[in-house]
Amino acid sequence: MEIQKISTDEVKQAAHYIQQGELVAFPTETVYGLGASALNPQAVKKVYQVKGRPSDNPLIVHVTSFEQVKEYIQESHPLAEVLVQTFWPGPLTIILPIKPNTFDTVVTGGLATVAFRMPDQALTLELIRQAGVPLVGPSANLSGHPSPTTAEHVIHDFEHSIKGVLDGGPTKIGVESTVLDLSDPNKPPMILRPGAVTKEMLEQACHTPVAVDSHLLRADEAPKAPGMKYKHYAPVVPVQMVHEQEWEQVASYLAHHPIRAGILAGPTAAEVVRGEAAAVYMYADDSVQAATQGLFSGLRALDETKAGLDCLYVATYPEDGLGVAYMNRLKKAANQMYFTNNETEV
Ligand code: AMP
Ligand code: MG
Repeated sequence: MEIQKISTDEVKQAAHYIQQGELVAFPTETVYGLGASALNPQAVKKVYQVKGRPSDNPLIVHVTSFEQVKEYIQESHPLAEVLVQTFWPGPLTIILPIKPNTFDTVVTGGLATVAFRMPDQALTLELIRQAGVPLVGPSANLSGHPSPTTAEHVIHDFEHSIKGVLDGGPTKIGVESTVLDLSDPNKPPMILRPGAVTKEMLEQACHTPVAVDSHLLRADEAPKAPGMKYKHYAPVVPVQMVHEQEWEQVASYLAHHPIRAGILAGPTAAEVVRGEAAAVYMYADDSVQAATQGLFSGLRALDETKAGLDCLYVATYPEDGLGVAYMNRLKKAANQMYFTNNETEV
C-alpha cells in the first residue's frame, strides 16, 4: 500500500476511508493528526500499531462541537462550557469523565475519562462531519519522532502504512494542543500539557486560578497523564539548547572543534553562528510564534540533512506565554541538555 495525498476537494474520499476502518492523517492548526474512527476499536488498534505507540497512552477524540461531546460524557465541569465557548475551535483539549460503554479501552487506555478537542481547521471539521463519527487523532508521526507539521512529514513516517493524508499545507501553530484536566467537577482545571492556549488565557476566561501538573514544574515528579512519561520529539542527532546570549560562545566553540553543527534559531541568532555551521534552519522571524511554528519542522529538516551532523544547537525562548509550550517540547527533544562551553569550565 502506498500513501495517497488527498487534495482539499477529495474530503469525501477521505471520509469514506475512515468509515471503512482505514487510517487517514488530517491537518489541524497545531500538528497533523493520525485519524481513525473513535468508534471502531480495530481501526484505533491500527493507529497504535503503525505509530508504535505504547497502549497505555490514551488518544484525543476530535469532534465538531461541544454538543457532540455531550453524547459521551457522564457529567460536565462547571467551567467546561465557558472554556469551550472561548477556545473552540482551537488548540485546547479538555478531559471529561465518560459514560460507561461509550469508547473502547483502546481509546481510553482503560481510564474513565476521555480527552476531547475541536480543531480549528475547516477541512478536518468537514472530514469529521462527513465520516459521521468522532476521530481519534494522535500526532501523525512514528512514536518518539518530532510531530508532523506538513503532509510531507506524514508521508515520510507512514509512506507504506496508512491509506492517505489530507493536505492542508503547513500547520499554523506547530506544537500540540494544551491538555486541560476537567475530570473532577469539584477541582480547578489543571494543565497536563502546555500549548498555545496558555495558563493566563485560561485564567482570564474562567476567572479562577488554573493549576499546572507538578511534573511540568519538576523534572523528577511522576507524570499524571499516562503518555507523559514517554520520550518525545527526539531527532536522531543529539540536541543542545542555547540561550540567546550564548551564540557567540557557540560560534567560537565550533571554530575550534571539528563538529558538524546544525543550527535551529531565529535570523538574528543564526547570523552570529552561520559561518561555523554545517547546516542552518532559520525560523521565519525572531518571534516565539515563528519558533514554535518551525521547531518540529526544523528538527526534522536538520535530522534529514545529508550533511551528517554531529549535534544540533537550538535556540531557547523565555518561558512565558507560548514560550512555555515551545520550551516544554524543546527540553524533551534535547533531553534537558544545554550548551556549555566545556573549555571555560576547566
Ligand atoms: P497525543 O495524542 O500524542 O497528542 O497526546 C495526547 C496527550 O493527552 C497524551 O499526553 C495523553 O497521555 C493525554 N491524554 C489523552 N487522554 C487522556 C486522559 N483521559 N487523561 C489524561 N491524559 C490524557
Ligand atoms: Mg504525539
